[in-house]
Amino acid sequence: MTQALIDQLSDTRLLKSQAYIGGDWVDANSGATFDVVDPATQMVIANVADLGAEQTSQAIEIADKAMREWRAQPAKLRCEVLERWHQLIIENTEDLAIIMSAEQGKTLIESRGEIGYSASFIKWFAEEGKRIYGDVIPHAQNDRRAITIKQAIGVVAAITPWNFPSAMITRKVGPALAVGCSVVLKPAAETPLSALALAELAQRAGLPAGLLNIVPGTDAVAIGGELTSNPKVKKLTFTGSTPVGKLLMGQCASTVKRTSMELGGNAPVIIFDDADLDLVMPGIINAKFRNSGQTCISANRIFVQKGIRQAFIERLSAAASTFNFGSYTKTESTHGPLITQTAVNNVDAKVKKAVSEGAKVVCGADPKDSQGYFYPATILTDLNDSMNIFNEEIFGPVAAIFDFDTEQQAIDMSNDTPFGLAAYIYTESMRRSWRVSEALEYGMVGINETAISAEIVPFGGVKESGQGREGSKYGLDDYLEIKYICFGSIDK
Ligand code: ADP
Repeated sequence: MTQALIDQLSDTRLLKSQAYIGGDWVDANSGATFDVVDPATQMVIANVADLGAEQTSQAIEIADKAMREWRAQPAKLRCEVLERWHQLIIENTEDLAIIMSAEQGKTLIESRGEIGYSASFIKWFAEEGKRIYGDVIPHAQNDRRAITIKQAIGVVAAITPWNFPSAMITRKVGPALAVGCSVVLKPAAETPLSALALAELAQRAGLPAGLLNIVPGTDAVAIGGELTSNPKVKKLTFTGSTPVGKLLMGQCASTVKRTSMELGGNAPVIIFDDADLDLVMPGIINAKFRNSGQTCISANRIFVQKGIRQAFIERLSAAASTFNFGSYTKTESTHGPLITQTAVNNVDAKVKKAVSEGAKVVCGADPKDSQGYFYPATILTDLNDSMNIFNEEIFGPVAAIFDFDTEQQAIDMSNDTPFGLAAYIYTESMRRSWRVSEALEYGMVGINETAISAEIVPFGGVKESGQGREGSKYGLDDYLEIKYICFGSIDK
């Protein structure tokens, strides 16, 4: 660990570089480690244990044993442990935010926000975990009675991304632990420190050994291969790109594991002529530039009706000119870097391709050679649905603006994609809000609002954006099996 990072923390024991398996902090059997890099400075901030398939298999074995005792406990007891974990996350918000910003790059304001959001899933599922009700089913035969109960599915494998290094973990681990499952989790190699810090707090909260195992590593194929083929794993929950999600679903088929998939998006924002620009601007700035555009529900295609187009572009470019991209350690930074140089290159290539196809650059599109993986706020106009950028998830601070004339045109363009995660509409018409929301082939629709995620609502997509829902009362279902029990001959 670098001294500079250590010096920023009140509790340095939250900085972990070993894996967490069976309640112990362990090195890789091979002794290998990998570098964790601050994307704003390109400095190595930690060397973390680099595990492979063998230790993943050991973690699964341990998780299977631990789960058998845990799922037999009353829900109240399990949920009390989660309540304590939630409390510890909240109490350590500042340190957790610093660790996250150092490895992921987002500003401290964003990291603090994510820690609060992350903790909220633990709290929510500590409450919901006590409400796993079955049914009594009126039977067709008079001498029979039928009931259903819901039981923990078993060992859960979780693979998480780097864009929300804490919240993408708790919204999987929270429901899994609450209902009686155990978890083996592979965090993204770019951001393992947030995952390990959460494990340290789970340990302090009294979570029994073996229920949460963190397997960091750079060989995603080896770790993922074990997680998806080991018969003791009963479910895989994944957040990441659509191509990897499809691959993992295929791998899970051989042992018929349940899967939950939170995959890529291509979110449309439809701004109608009657929209209130005072609502649109903060909404778009949040949806497009939060996390420097690296979220799966980022505004990817901004459809603007022709009457409001000019005013919208002027206000957006004025707002973008005030952004200050920099390290979380500088108070003037309003936005962070992208995660890697590859990410910068990918965004730049998409922008260059759009320009070669006729896009007009209002601002940005000129990444500077700098220390850190920065890409400037960019606005592109004069786009159309035949361009590559219409079909690609940008994952960077690039606002892609398309024009439209009619409501039907906006709906058709929005749905003309294999993805279906989040969509947003800005209009003052209630009737149009209903109509368009129902017509959009998306798992989530925000009306005059883009900050739509919360622990109390179901997050998830349709089409190639995934399956399953995280958060809300539905978020437990993915970790439960329904068992039907028939009582026969009760009249004897
Ligand atoms: P991104 O492009 O946002 O990094 P990925 O889908 O590549 O999205 O990564 C999301 C998570 O999936 C990360 O933890 C990554 O290490 C993991 N991952 C990537 N490829 C594989 C794979 N073949 N098998 C298992 N996990 C993988």
